[in-house]
Amino acid sequence: MLKKNNLQSLIQSEIRNMSLECDKINGINLSQGISNLPLSPFIKNGAYEAIENGLNYYTRFDGVQELREAIAEKSYNYNNIRCNPNKNIVVSAGATGAFYCACLAVLKPGDEVIIFEPYYGYHINTLYAVGAIPRFIKLNLPNWSINFTDLENIITEKTKAIMICTPSNPSGKVFDIEELTLLGNFCVDKNLIVFTDEIYEYFVYDSKKHVSPASLDIFRDRTITISGYSKTFSVTGWRVGYCIVPEHLHETIGYINDLIYVCSPSPLQYGVAVGINKLTQNYYTSIQERFINKRNQLCNTLNQIGIKPFVPEGAYYILADVTNVPGINSKEKAMFILNESKVASVPGLAFFSGNGGDNIVRFCYAKEEEELDKACENLLKLKL
Ligand code: PLP
Repeated sequence: MLKKNNLQSLIQSEIRNMSLECDKINGINLSQGISNLPLSPFIKNGAYEAIENGLNYYTRFDGVQELREAIAEKSYNYNNIRCNPNKNIVVSAGATGAFYCACLAVLKPGDEVIIFEPYYGYHINTLYAVGAIPRFIKLNLPNWSINFTDLENIITEKTKAIMICTPSNPSGKVFDIEELTLLGNFCVDKNLIVFTDEIYEYFVYDSKKHVSPASLDIFRDRTITISGYSKTFSVTGWRVGYCIVPEHLHETIGYINDLIYVCSPSPLQYGVAVGINKLTQNYYTSIQERFINKRNQLCNTLNQIGIKPFVPEGAYYILADVTNVPGINSKEKAMFILNESKVASVPGLAFFSGNGGDNIVRFCYAKEEEELDKACENLLKLKL
């Protein structure tokens, strides 16, 4: 974790640490994963054709017109967010790039940003990188719900913004309309900017529905919606993400994007645009079918060995209670699991500011069938 505004203390993430430990023993890496969905020929050919057609140059500061138009239409149809492709969308180097540009545009050093924990580490380090200060609020089990008294108590005159991640990495929490409405009223009351990371928007299970905060009137003018196609199209290396922003922030965020990244790779932006325009509902439904089975398989396995999973509603990670696993903290417990079963997970300390993650590890189930089968087989032999 970074010290405030000190990039020299950027350390190797626990996820990379565990991946290295896993490689050493030739284990099965459930500490990280990629969605591994087959790359659609539409997307691939869209990018090839863009290259063939000479679309290999810098793009407009906010991305190519075709992609912004495709995102605007998709946002209206799927997210229920009405946006103008020329005034509300900035395409950037993945959701990560979009969030960084947005932070640079609206935060100044010393501004406080409320973060729900368990959190996604990049959110915190991005805040540190712009000199902002994360203020942590724990979500409460069993449903990772918000305690509004805690929220009220953490506000200071420096509180500028709040971060939502739905569906969440790592908890899989999917905020529903009632919780978002309460949260929206709070944000209006405290005049907060809202960042919402929705990169897993299509990874939602059971009867849950993805709700974008910006689709609700209370959030609309104060919300920066961050998303992208790394996960949905399984193109994490393409670096195509975006943010949907209120009109008055569009040029600033776009020009910062131009300054830092210049643009997301042009032909890949065209490829993603073709994917958005041509893929049918079947594609998105198949994501849910594919992942819900994997989720259930791993949750069943964990239940059988006495590691209680907090069953996720979305994304593709499972947080699990490792109280029964030997070790004095989550790192030791994750190492115990790795050494005994050859299955790597991420220690909870990667997702909490204090000791809240001591009895938690995170497993990723975005794995090919064979690998997940093997991981479950190994875990079932674990003696606790
Ligand atoms: N946001 C969340 C919550 C993530 O979990 C990840 C990747 O793990 C990202 C953003 C990264 O997205 P991108 O590849 O578009 O930068």
